[in-house]
Amino acid sequence: MTTRVACIGECMMELSERPDGSLLRGYGGDTLNTALYLARLGVAVDYVTALGDDPWSDEMLAAWAAEGVGTGEVRRLPGRMPGLYIIRTDGSGERSFHYWRDSAAARDLFSGPGAAETQRALAGYDLVYASGISLSLYGEAGRAALAETCRAVQSKGGRVAFDTNYRPRGWPDKAKAQAAFRDAMAAADLIFASAEDLDWLYGPDGEEEVLRHHGRCEIVLKGGGSPPSVRVLTGTDDVTVPASPIETVVDTTAAGDSFAAAYMAARLAGRSPAEAAACGHRLAGTVIGHRGAVIPRAAMPDLTLD
Ligand code: ADP
Repeated sequence: MTTRVACIGECMMELSERPDGSLLRGYGGDTLNTALYLARLGVAVDYVTALGDDPWSDEMLAAWAAEGVGTGEVRRLPGRMPGLYIIRTDGSGERSFHYWRDSAAARDLFSGPGAAETQRALAGYDLVYASGISLSLYGEAGRAALAETCRAVQSKGGRVAFDTNYRPRGWPDKAKAQAAFRDAMAAADLIFASAEDLDWLYGPDGEEEVLRHHGRCEIVLKGGGSPPSVRVLTGTDDVTVPASPIETVVDTTAAGDSFAAAYMAARLAGRSPAEAAACGHRLAGTVIGHRGAVIPRAAMPDLTLD
């Protein structure tokens, strides 16, 4: 039977400001990037979010479907819109991100009309993936509903993966984020944790916050360094897998998102944690050699997962 994966989160409209002030339109979101790369690696994956009934929401849906991402569980909220961000590049090439997302439809996935149906549908997946950014969308009640959904997934034999993407601006204060991440890690069967996120969130105790789950779940600890290494811990393995050096790093957008996709695709195909980490490095290493989150299809490395 086909393994079905659900990626939960938000995709926003992206406007990149050009030197003449005009704006180039695209779209982006961390968990969407992961869904898209999973689809390219042959995994049956749905993106689970809420959109509006506006033309840009229509365009996003069509683009995801064209990439092979399932859209059957995308809720459309009448009168609502997707969130939006502008990327501004200053004279020295430094980029800054500016957001309009407080009223984005995606925030009501676990609270608006139809939330119960979304929860029921999610419970039927084999693997459900969410990130720290996903958590920041929902508020206390929404996060509780997501946690309940994850328990339902596990009670049916499915698994839950959590990626610690910490963006301070998404949280009212650090304590809320710390508590939400703690709960999410305690509930997950697979944790992708970046040393940088853990350090921002928990300071010197960061690694300990994750390693306390060693033995209970699979942990992928992404360290710094150049090239970076990851340490993968399962009940039986504790291996460190370095990335190959990359000649030119063009843009690190979606490095972690694509790493997670290739890691999960490889594990779902029966590869060992060390092999899966090597696949993660190969895809992420290719992604950072290109501009933008999503590389051309022709540039996808062959991970031979069949
Ligand atoms: P994020 O901050 O998006 O989570 P990371 O910095 O943790 O991303 O990097 C994720 C992955 O991207 C790494 O595990 C590695 O596979 C790849 N990567 C990132 N930077 C480099 C680099 N300088 N050289 C080689 N691979 C890299």
